[in-house]
Amino acid sequence: MKDFPKPNIVISKCINIEAVRYDGGIVDNEFAKILGSYVNYITVCPEVSIGLSVPRDPIVIIKENNSYKLYQPKTNLNLTDKMEEFSNKFLDSLIDIDGFLLKSKSPSCGVSGTKIFDDLYSDKPIEEGRGFFAQKALEKFGYLAIEDELSLKIIEIRHHFLIKVFAFAEFRETINRLSSVKELIDFHQRYKYLLMAYSQRALRTLGRLIAGQKELKLQELTSIYRREFYKAFADVPSRGSNVNVLQHIFGYFSRYLRNVEKDKFFRLLDDYRNGLVHITSLIRLLRDYSFRFENRYLITQRYLNPYPEEFLVYEN
Ligand code: SF4
Repeated sequence: MKDFPKPNIVISKCINIEAVRYDGGIVDNEFAKILGSYVNYITVCPEVSIGLSVPRDPIVIIKENNSYKLYQPKTNLNLTDKMEEFSNKFLDSLIDIDGFLLKSKSPSCGVSGTKIFDDLYSDKPIEEGRGFFAQKALEKFGYLAIEDELSLKIIEIRHHFLIKVFAFAEFRETINRLSSVKELIDFHQRYKYLLMAYSQRALRTLGRLIAGQKELKLQELTSIYRREFYKAFADVPSRGSNVNVLQHIFGYFSRYLRNVEKDKFFRLLDDYRNGLVHITSLIRLLRDYSFRFENRYLITQRYLNPYPEEFLVYEN
């Protein structure tokens, strides 16, 4: 089984790293701590980076004439331009980034759930949206996994996030040291079932691209492959799509299994279909079978080994 390359993840500095919140606090997040042993964190605190102190008076987003502004009500400072300028500069400076883990609900970092007001001194939000920095990150890197620490408590979102960051990191590393088409073909084969679950269309497109690779230069091939590969992971796959892949993989072993084992698989599959268990239970079961029956092809499939084991058994 292949090891995992280290994804490069931008993280809000107030998550476990440094007490930079407006009230001088820090967010203690267990998942981000564990993730820290498997990834490289690039830390950022947009509010401190634009010159605000710790602690500081809170800032808020105001919606004025259909446009969003960032203010510090206590000082009446309009921070919109400074924050936009910093965000653009910081995001433009990033190289080889695989995802973002940002602080929820913040007027700077919030990916969702940020309160938006229509008046500087109102305490009643008119809507919920995104923080300024998060909005810019999504505009520039919308194809990457960009989540906040609260969303990652939901197992489906966490599974999707982890799949994306580890897949993109592996793709990036593969491309960076690519010396022959064969390495890209191997990569594609390892991702066959993961691609099948995420997008049958992408699997076909990438398969055709690899099959017709002789007509393309290596650089051209990798650049088209990259575009399609990233696109394939845009949406969380449906349960139906995962059931299809799980049944497909199960087909490799079914004839070797006892009836009681087959019954167990189908019961678990039904539970997954009905939302009673998470897909990680089925992944672990099928992975055990791939080792038991020494199926080298399946052992190397990323679908059965999408990210470090610790997260396959992680519970909030
Ligand atoms: S949410 Fe973002 S801006 Fe606010 S303290 Fe954390 S890192 Fe800084």
